[in-house]
Amino acid sequence: MPRHTKIVATLGPASSDPQVLERMVHAGVDVVRMNFSHGKAEDHVARAEAIREAASLAGRPVGILADLQGPKIRVGKFAEGQVELRRDAEFILDARCETGDAERVGLDYKDLPKDVKAGDVLLLDDGRLKLTVARVIGHEIHTVVKVGGTLSNNKGINRQGGGLTAPALTAKDMDDIKTAAKIGVDFVAVSFPKSAADMYMARQLMRASGVDALLIAKIERTEAVANLDEILDASDGIMVARGDLAVEVGDAAVPALQKKMIRAARDRNKLTITATQMMESMITSPVPTRAEVSDVANAVLDGTDAVMLSAETASGRFPVEVVEAMSRVCLEAEKSSDVALDRDVLNRVFTRIDQSIAMAAIWTAWHLKVKAIASLTQTGSTALWMSRLNSGVPIYALTPEASARNQMTLYREVFPLLMSQTHQDRDVLLWEAEQILIDQGVVERGDLIVLTIGEPIGASGGTNTLKIVRVGEHPPPHVAEQ
Ligand code: PGA
Ligand code: MN
Repeated sequence: MPRHTKIVATLGPASSDPQVLERMVHAGVDVVRMNFSHGKAEDHVARAEAIREAASLAGRPVGILADLQGPKIRVGKFAEGQVELRRDAEFILDARCETGDAERVGLDYKDLPKDVKAGDVLLLDDGRLKLTVARVIGHEIHTVVKVGGTLSNNKGINRQGGGLTAPALTAKDMDDIKTAAKIGVDFVAVSFPKSAADMYMARQLMRASGVDALLIAKIERTEAVANLDEILDASDGIMVARGDLAVEVGDAAVPALQKKMIRAARDRNKLTITATQMMESMITSPVPTRAEVSDVANAVLDGTDAVMLSAETASGRFPVEVVEAMSRVCLEAEKSSDVALDRDVLNRVFTRIDQSIAMAAIWTAWHLKVKAIASLTQTGSTALWMSRLNSGVPIYALTPEASARNQMTLYREVFPLLMSQTHQDRDVLLWEAEQILIDQGVVERGDLIVLTIGEPIGASGGTNTLKIVRVGEHPPPHVAEQ
């Protein structure tokens, strides 16, 4: 059985060599993430070319996700690159400071002094340092160090409890959307959205730049958790961005939120990526810890579409081994995943014809214990609906559209394949689909499969037919000259 949960791997210096990329794809990477917080536009363009090359060598699609930096609020730079902050010392965040020292540092977001007040707790460097605000004087935030440590250039700032108001899309993000357009990315992730409005704005900017990608909201702000349903409606999927989220809501709240968010996304036919520190120790170690193995397995059991690697593949020492380890853990967890399909199907509300066929197909496939589902689809929506039910039956999505194929790399249980759909005859197409599954080694003569297709052929959103066949039972249909 192929692995059903997808793996997203972040690219960086450790994974830029085309040979390493090839080995990572071979080890099971389904989607690569380009982190626009680092690197220049040219680097991203060059990496995208290398990844398309590696995918075509491997003979399977690899999706590309552009992760926009967003308004991460950061301290400026220090004369010495870093300073040591001691407990109880006073420290000033000064919007007008150019070069920092042990007394004060600048801010990239100049309006921060307007957003905070005495008593607020500020967390720096993913929560490693903690400051409390004593008072705000004009452009200066005077703080007292509660938890000290080393603070280096450009580290992030969060406020405990959330509520910082920087807009979700910065001028840099708008430039980066243009780079994403040049690359032809399959997914765009928006960092720090607070509401559906942020996502609508991102979607508009993407459209204006000609980016036809699925839109992912990174849930990493307190407000985004509160507005989850409206953000889901405005997006194609979410990332459980546990790094910043843990700083804002407290680390102990994150595991339960992860489960809730994945469930909410699936219920609304949306995608999920579970991210950050999943295999953190493998940045320097060739094997994961027991806790990391459990974390990845639990995300699989929660029903996530994908698990993500960040520094592990961007700058770690074992970019190939970590993909292998993650893949192995996903496969094992999937074996024990608890399928409650009857309950899920009965609880669904659906009114569309294509969605009804998707539901009927998955339910039939599960009860008949078929080997595979083959879905002939234009946009991939039939495959998406089927995959939201987590039946454990692999869904082979056959599409003539390269962009739909690449976007489906993120869908759990879906294996996208390219198929030219030039014939207008349904029986010919279904027979061809059967042959593709045989060629791929997915099914053999005698296996039962479920097929879905829409007539007239080639219309999107037109799936209206479900067919159950025993492989190899029918002779090839007569192919009329077109
Ligand atoms: P980042 O987002 O890696 O871009 O910060 C993910 C997270 O916050 O978990
Ligand atoms: Mn983040």
